[in-house]
Order: sequence, then structure tokens, then C-alpha cells
Amino acid sequence: MEFNTEKTIFEKIIDREISAEILMEDDLCIVIRDINPGAPVHVLIIPKKRIPHLAEAREQDALLLGHLLLMAQKFAQQKELGGGFRVVINNGQDAGETVPHLHVHLLAGKPMIWPPC
Ligand code: 5GP
Repeated sequence: MEFNTEKTIFEKIIDREISAEILMEDDLCIVIRDINPGAPVHVLIIPKKRIPHLAEAREQDALLLGHLLLMAQKFAQQKELGGGFRVVINNGQDAGETVPHLHVHLLAGKPMIWPPC
């Protein structure tokens, strides 16, 4: 897949060029509130390294990918999401991916159905 050199909306948020509600941040990722929430709690865990899609992640990204999930866990613990939470990665058009910069959705705050589609 072609790599567009133009910054994604998430890179602009990471670089503070556009605003977003940043809830957590460390060296590797940020956690922001989704602008168009699909649940009472809906945040995005976004790596600072731009990997366009999960399908393009490489072996050397394994620690980073694990870190994103542990960040989701940390967020859920801090927010006391005891009722449960869901993490989702959309990969590609059919999955509904709209921003070509890998990110993990964390949704919570209401009972959810499965399958989601
Ligand atoms: P995707 O559809 O690619 O899996 O998820 C992209 C998500 O990014 C969507 O849920 C969308 O609402 C969110 N989003 C898109 N643009 C912005 C923005 O400028 N700010 C924030 N906070 N979220 C955004």
C-alpha cells in the first residue's frame, strides 16, 4: 500500500497542530477522546509512530502493539471501567477505517452487542 507523506489528522494532533482532548500520553502513544463517540466512553489509543494500517505492522512493531493494549488496560483501570470495555482496530475500507494511522478504539459505558456488524 502506498505511504502518503502528508501528515494524518492524528499526527497533527500528536504535534499539537490541531487540538484534541488528550487524556493520557507517554513516549510511544497518546490517548484522545473520539470526536464522534460511539459509546459513552470512546477513546483512541494512537501510536506516535505512524503505521498506516495493522496489516502493515512488522515484527519490530510487536512491542509497540503490545504497549497500545497495555495502555488500554491502564486507561480502563484509571477510569474504573469495571463493567467491561471493548477494544477494536479497524483495518481497511471494509472494516470502516477512515484514518490511515493505526489506532485502537476503546469503547465502554454501556452494554454492547456481538457481533458488532
Ligand atoms: P477509524 O474509522 O479509522 O477506525 O477511526 C477513526 C476515528 O477517529 C473515528 O472514530 C473518528 O470519529 C475519529 N476522529 C476523526 N477525526 C478526528 C479528530 O479530528 N479528532 C478526534 N478526537 N477524533 C477524530
